Order: sequence, then C-alpha cells, then structure tokens
Amino acid sequence: MRSIFIALALICAATMQSFAAPKNIILLIGDGMDEAQIAMARAYEFDGKPMLFMDQMKNRGSVIVYQLLYEDPTKIQFAGESSSGATTIATGKRTTAMRVAIDAFDGSHLKTILEEAQERGFKTGIVSTARMPDATQASFTAHAQIRYCFVMGQEECKLFNDTPILEQMIDRDLDVMLAGGTRYLYAPETGGKTIGEKAFNQGFKVITTRTELLNLEPGTKTYGAFGEDNVPPEWVGPHGQGAQEIKLNQAGTEAVFDDPARCEPNPVHNDIPTLEEMSKFAIESLKNDEEGFFLMIEGAQTDKEAHEAHPCGSISDLLAFDRTVRMAVDYAKELGDTAVIVTADHGQAAQVVFTPEVYYPPATYVNAKGLLQVLLTKGGNPLYTYYGTNNADAQSHTGVNVPIYTYGLDDPEPLTGVIEQVDIYPVMKKFLFE
Ligand SMILES: [Zn+2]
Repeated sequence: MRSIFIALALICAATMQSFAAPKNIILLIGDGMDEAQIAMARAYEFDGKPMLFMDQMKNRGSVIVYQLLYEDPTKIQFAGESSSGATTIATGKRTTAMRVAIDAFDGSHLKTILEEAQERGFKTGIVSTARMPDATQASFTAHAQIRYCFVMGQEECKLFNDTPILEQMIDRDLDVMLAGGTRYLYAPETGGKTIGEKAFNQGFKVITTRTELLNLEPGTKTYGAFGEDNVPPEWVGPHGQGAQEIKLNQAGTEAVFDDPARCEPNPVHNDIPTLEEMSKFAIESLKNDEEGFFLMIEGAQTDKEAHEAHPCGSISDLLAFDRTVRMAVDYAKELGDTAVIVTADHGQAAQVVFTPEVYYPPATYVNAKGLLQVLLTKGGNPLYTYYGTNNADAQSHTGVNVPIYTYGLDDPEPLTGVIEQVDIYPVMKKFLFE
C-alpha cells in the first residue's frame, strides 16, 4: 500500500513539473544607450515628443554604471565598457573592461544566466548588430581574459591562452545565433576547419543574407552572419558624413554651420535583415519550448557609431532597437510568463547641444573643440549633435546612468528607482528559476 502512495506521489510530482508554465526572458541591451543617445534619437524622429515605445514603458529605473579598474581591480573606473557591463548583467558580478565573464581577481569563469538557463533545459539565443564574437553576446556565452580573442591565431588569444570566443560560442550549442561578421566564417579554428564548417558540423544552418533568413523555417538551428564585420547601420549622415570639426569663416571669428540636413539610407545595408527581423526569427524559433527560453538581443550600433561620431548611425540603430522592444513586448503579451528587460551597458559620448557654447568670454568659436553635426529633424527643426570627448572620430564612453525598462516581471519593483547594474541578474534568476 505504502509503495502505491509513493508511486502516486512520484507521478503527481512528475506531472506537476511538466505542467509548470514555461518562463521566458527577452533581454534587450542597447549598447551605449544612455538618456543622451535616446534624447538625440527622440528629437530626430519625434521632435522631442515621448513617442518612442520605450517612453511608454511604465516600469523603469536608472542604472548606475561603473566597473573595476583593469590595472588594479580593487579600484573603481567610473565609466563602463561592453564586456564588463554585459558580464555584470549576465552574472551579477562586476569585472574590468576587456574581461568576458571572467572574475577580475582570480581569473575564474563566472557562470552566466544564459549558461544556467541552458543547463536547466531552456532554449537559448543571441541576436546582435555587432559582429558575432563581440563583447556583449560573448559575455553571455563564453569566457575570455581579453574580449578581442575572436578566432584562432590572434595575439589576444595567446596572451592568456584563451580558447577563441567564437569557438566557445559555437560549442555553447545555442538554438539561434544571428549577428554580423561573414568574414569570421572563413577564419580557421582549432579543429583544422573553418568557423563556418565548425558551425555546420555543430548542426547549425549557416546563412548570410536577409533573403535566406526570411525563407527559413523558424526553429531551424541557425547561425546567421550578416555584413562583413559589424552589421552596417541602416542610416548614414548627410552626404555620407558624420560630425565634423566646427568650421570658421576666413577671419576665424565666426562659425560656419552646414545647413541642417536629413540622415540618408546606408547603401551598404543591402540584403541584411533588420534587428526586428532577426529578433522575430529568434523569438519564433525559441517560443515553444516547454521549459522556456532566454534570448539576449543587442542593438550594437548606438555605441559603435557614437565612437565614430556618426549620429545618424546611432539614431537608426536606436530606432530599430526601439521597434524591436515593441515587438518583444507584443510577444510577451501573447506568450505570457515572459519578462522583457531593456537596458544598456554604459553611456556614450553624443550630446544634444544648443550650439557650441561661445557666449561668455573668453570662449570663442576658435576654441570650441569637439565634433558637430546639424541634422534636420522629421518636423523640420535643427538638431545640434555634438561629440566632445575627443577631437577625432574616436569618442569615449561616459559614466552617465543608463535606463532600465521592464515588462512582465512578477515583481518589477527591484528594477525601479535608482539601482546598480549588479541588481539586474538576481531579478532575472528569480524570475526564470524560482
Ligand atoms: Zn563602445
């Protein structure tokens, strides 16, 4: 009799387990997407009206960003970077710039939320407009002392004897990987083949064009690489130009500004899927798992284009990211038990300015440094975009707070108000696994 009870109890437990609703997280990281980058995109597209989808998300907070100092991790560096930011979001631990899911003190591997989800039977995926092995997605799927150890043979791999990040990512055996970088498909790997062959042998369908992606059955285990390196931004600046040094008249006494002008479509963005299209394929591929899924989506060009003082590239990436957030929330409503978490890893350099400040002597246009571009907004207003961390097109990250927005958490409160970047991981872990 007792054994029958035990058997019944076991059957009940097994049944209950299989009836537990799947839990899903769609984590969206806008690389470099602080409030200044958002303000610039909002001004350009909506003339300052709160019409971004993210503007309508009610559960929101402000994330303090800092990292540990590379040379001495007992010290703090007050501006973040992509590998340390993504590592902190993925593992709940701070590290230094350059380190990919690696402890800054003892060099040990920090287990990521994606790895744990996969161990527990969740489906997993990454989508990014950066090259496939770039820092953000690497920090969820690989471990390396130096983020630029992409493929075999690079000096960055030899320094600490790291396994190339891209090999680790393929061996991680995700269900879907969509990002930039066709060039890496031809890179050698330690098994004596190419990266593309390694992905194929791991069971991935390897694709390189938008046409292939749109014709592919969702659920196909896919490695998609689009664009030669990073996915090119959707827009470029007027006449293909970014921000420039402020020009002066011949006497050197007056600034001469170009007429405000519109961003232009990037001719190189050709047969390349949008972030939304990649993300839709990924969600469709992951959504029917009985355990659930973890998907990380990165809009990478807000950062990369800001480094080069290209406001139009950043704006187009941010708007594409915002449309993708809207789509993710729509899916979360349809699927239920799905949390959408939207944040950034660190701040970037672009500012919206009045005009370069020259009204208070001894300030003059002659000493107004930095790079400026005057854009024409959709509503016909001039928008002064400005990069002042450098006088060349190599702009720096900034230590400003970044936003966080959530939808679908059982308890959104821990991610509202002013929080730290380490606070995000425990909320994801609790939602998915408890
Ligand atoms: Zn950056």
